[in-house]
Amino acid sequence: MPDSSLTRAILDAVDDAFERQVAFTADLVRHPSQRGQEHTAQELMFQAMRARGLAMDRFRIDVDAIRDHPGFSPVAVSYDNAINVVGTHHPREVKGRSLILNGHVDVVPVGPLDMWTYPPYEPRVVDGWLHGRGAGDMKAGLVANLFALDALRAAGVQPAATVYVQSVTEEECTGNGALACLTRGYRADAALISEPGGDRLVRANVGVVWFQIEVRGRPAHVARSTTGTNAIVAATRVIAALGELESRWNAEKANHPLFADVEKPITINVGKIEGGDWASSVPAWCRIDCRAALYPGTPVREAQAAIEQVVRGVALADPYLSNHPPTVTYNGFTAEGYVLPEGTDAEACLRAAHARVFESELETRIAPAYLDARVFMLYADTPALVYGPLSDGVHGFDERVELASLRRVTKSIALFVADWCGVEAVEAGVARG
Ligand SMILES: [Zn+2]
Repeated sequence: MPDSSLTRAILDAVDDAFERQVAFTADLVRHPSQRGQEHTAQELMFQAMRARGLAMDRFRIDVDAIRDHPGFSPVAVSYDNAINVVGTHHPREVKGRSLILNGHVDVVPVGPLDMWTYPPYEPRVVDGWLHGRGAGDMKAGLVANLFALDALRAAGVQPAATVYVQSVTEEECTGNGALACLTRGYRADAALISEPGGDRLVRANVGVVWFQIEVRGRPAHVARSTTGTNAIVAATRVIAALGELESRWNAEKANHPLFADVEKPITINVGKIEGGDWASSVPAWCRIDCRAALYPGTPVREAQAAIEQVVRGVALADPYLSNHPPTVTYNGFTAEGYVLPEGTDAEACLRAAHARVFESELETRIAPAYLDARVFMLYADTPALVYGPLSDGVHGFDERVELASLRRVTKSIALFVADWCGVEAVEAGVARG
């Protein structure tokens, strides 16, 4: 840990700038950075990093550069606006350990607007919480990474090691944004991802597979419905069978000790459905978009094979479908899970910082949802600490982040950076935003 007067100065600096930090987070929330529209939020992040004197790199995800990587997930959309932003701090003299501070700028769709108390892209603070889509997941954390570095500078020091600040896209659907940073050459001795997490550290995380099932039926006039095969009804049978697969996988949780106490580690979510053309026609088609989780250590291909077998089983029970089997297409995440091993130096360092700020021991949690940390853990042998503020309504309605938690997490990150990277005096006469 930095000496006590420097520690005090860093903690005070976070407090002094916190109002600006919340205001900047709200600015970022105003950018509706759903998939395909991330570029304006990334422009804001780019300007904020450049104003701080970081060496800037901004690049579109190049699918050809990552397509053959084992961590690649298939893409079904244009990447025209899938821009990654990385700002690099170079120390005068490298004395400490290098670090990646990572966060994602993309957010998930908002759903029916009438179910939000406040419009999702008009952020506001209510009772100590900042509301808005992406406030929790994870613009608060993304901005905290920047303001943690600011706090060091305000205290007269800067990291004595290279620090890469990454603002990536595609976290909510493929993980290809973080992967593209890796294949571009960004590596460090540790990574910290400030995803929302109730001030806890992620110990283990499931893998995720996205898939789309398309069922084709036989169209007919409803007056002769017995001659048709209803694709929507057939899709409901597929959905029921996926539910059985989910139960089977959850029943195996005892074989995965870290997940044994998680109420429902595996969710196979039917997230989207469309089909049919006309109320009085037996529908000829139905498509469902689904997401399945898999335990760390389960190869993606094994999970995919189980899913395909379930679909095949439904098809074989139906004379028409057995000759016209539904198709399974992978159109997003094909990501494996990971476990953060106990006892890394990086974790020890974060534990010390957290204990200093929270005056309690850092707790760990198991994450039953995708995290970009797997890119660092599985493909770069880099300890990745997922640690962030208390949030609520993530991927749902009335998403929000608690400001008291955010303030403390920012302090923890700042002390962690100072300890992990070491510090050197800020060069006199170098003005930075
Ligand atoms: Zn997230």
